[in-house]
Amino acid sequence: MPRAYGIIGWPLGHTLSPALHNWGFGGLGLDARYEAWPLKPDGLPAFMERVRTEPIHGLSVTIPHKRAVMAHLDTISDRARAIGAVNTVYWDGDRLCGENTDVIGVIAPLRGVDPLPRSAVVLGAGGAARAAVAGFLELGIPRVAVANRTRAKAEALAADFGVECLDWDTRTDFPWELVCNATPLGMSGDLAGETPWNADRFAEGAVAYDIVYNPLETRFLAEAGAAGCRTVSGLEMFLHQGLAQFRLWTGREMDEAGARRLLLTALTTQKNEKG
Ligand code: NAP
Repeated sequence: MPRAYGIIGWPLGHTLSPALHNWGFGGLGLDARYEAWPLKPDGLPAFMERVRTEPIHGLSVTIPHKRAVMAHLDTISDRARAIGAVNTVYWDGDRLCGENTDVIGVIAPLRGVDPLPRSAVVLGAGGAARAAVAGFLELGIPRVAVANRTRAKAEALAADFGVECLDWDTRTDFPWELVCNATPLGMSGDLAGETPWNADRFAEGAVAYDIVYNPLETRFLAEAGAAGCRTVSGLEMFLHQGLAQFRLWTGREMDEAGARRLLLTALTTQKNEKG
């Protein structure tokens, strides 16, 4: 029997994770299979029992289970605890552990950026924004601020992490060296073509980081590129959070370049299929 891995969420919708991890298992000749398991919120306790008894060797966790799953684990990393969300469940011996690899995913594409931006603004105050703020602080960016359409949510996030809270209307007033879109603005569908930033307000030499990865080049990234900014696509975050999950589950490294090609092809194909 192949070792069982998978993703839980509700509604699960389309996810690139099965393609990524099954490709990784195949490349290393591992007898393992990664499934998509749509799971309603009330099914979580029974499912987590299954994880222990079957056993299931690893889980990706998405909305709405990221917080609730914590009650079913033996150990939670400091990083996941700080964010209040687990996106990865793995075994360490007989202990069922929780990690948040979204933060690792946020950080990884910025490791090569030299010099490190001295200031960062995160747009949005949901789960992705929390991962971005935690990641930027972990990287050592000295000044981090958050702005959100609903100010109360930005205030709560800012208080949790001890960062600045900006008014949504004044978010572009300062020449931020890193601007991170952690809203769904620009995502394919109803919000495609939208952006949370003004094209003429990118600071010279800034880094523009979009957490949205579908489409690969959002309006935010296109305008940032045209303004001479360095751009980071949400695909990099997705890739690196997945590579970190794979490492926790198998102790092995997935081929990064091959995995990136796989995701790029999958996203391009999806785009073409949707016409
Ligand atoms: P979420 O928890 O629902 O938060 C969404 C945030 O965006 C909220 O702060 C919301 O503001 C704001 N927002 C939504 N619509 C807006 C609009 N029209 N104008 C301005 N602000 C708006 O979502 P999430 O989980 O953080 O995900 C955010 C995005 O990141 C999604 O596109 C998701 O696909 C992407 N994501 C990517 C990765 C990756 O690996 N690259 C990982 C996770 C998420 P309010 O508080 O005012 O509603």
